[in-house]
Amino acid sequence: MPERRSDPAGILDRPPAAAAEVLAAWCAAQGLPAFRARQLQPYLWQRPLPGWQEATDLPRPLREALDRDWPLGRLELATEQRSVDGTRKFLWRLPDGEAIESVLIPTGERRTLCISSQAGCALGCIFCATGRMGFRRNLTPFEVAGQAREVALRYPAETPTNIVFMGLGEPLLNWPAVDVALTILNHPDGLGIGARHITVSTVGIVPGMAALAARPEQFRLAISLHAADPERRRPLMPIEKKYPLAAVLEAARAFTKRITFEYVMIAEQNDTDRDADHLGRLARKMGALVNLLPLHPGGAPGLTPAPPARIRAFADRLKHQGVEVVVRRSRGLDISAACGQLRVETESRRPRARAPGTVAG
Ligand code: SF4
Repeated sequence: MPERRSDPAGILDRPPAAAAEVLAAWCAAQGLPAFRARQLQPYLWQRPLPGWQEATDLPRPLREALDRDWPLGRLELATEQRSVDGTRKFLWRLPDGEAIESVLIPTGERRTLCISSQAGCALGCIFCATGRMGFRRNLTPFEVAGQAREVALRYPAETPTNIVFMGLGEPLLNWPAVDVALTILNHPDGLGIGARHITVSTVGIVPGMAALAARPEQFRLAISLHAADPERRRPLMPIEKKYPLAAVLEAARAFTKRITFEYVMIAEQNDTDRDADHLGRLARKMGALVNLLPLHPGGAPGLTPAPPARIRAFADRLKHQGVEVVVRRSRGLDISAACGQLRVETESRRPRARAPGTVAG
């Protein structure tokens, strides 16, 4: 069966420069003047339109031809939840029936969109709802960057200012698409979001980290650490067997900007003073910022969030060691805002597929 795509003609699956070339060649083939191609380009990402019919500055026959040859892809909204704290969660339905999530988190002037890079995930971190659903498929570049486009179309006043790759999936296991999506998100002819406002979060896929570090833009790197001692990390995150922490930290040295350690606080799993001391040593060695996140209460059956007093004591212990620590509030507690939770609640389960080149979850 042919693959059904979110962006059928693929114009939004290309980096802006490649899309511009395609549109220029197409306009030339239609006998249109060169300025027409320049007129079309901003509607892809800079001033996105839901469809060519909305480009009212273009002649109707041209709009119709564009709809036929280069239709603008959309993500279909299946469910939207809004928290009392302003957090919005979106479940997008893809043409092949898969579903992915994005979460928009407003903080002051900043609007951070947490985006998905895969439908499901093969890595099976035990505290993660996405890991429990298994791997379904990689997303296309449009399906990754298009999450921000879709939010901008639906809520122009809430166009994302910051992007974090912390939704469904491991971005560095879908590098070809994420590579293009990063260009679209960052490029002035794309969504124009500054590289320092785009954070790729990884469990530590070493080859992907090298590819990300090789890009010139200096996107931010976050490492999902969750335990600073390999013995403690292995039962939480099976990826530790394939890419041990020491190799991950070595790969992180290629990043010149300060990195972040993400650390979900789970009662009796990684929240002792000894865990804090391990983490403190590592964070100092790497000059890393530490983000402590309470485990989302609905995210992982059988695990309990570390109590608030324990999180405070853990953070204080890190601070005493000279580590910069941010204790994140759990946002959207009244909605299914843990990664993968909305999809898990919404979907009936399907058989798992296995991602190429991944360890079993
Ligand atoms: S935490 Fe990330 S890598 Fe781990 S299972 Fe969840 S989505 Fe996959």
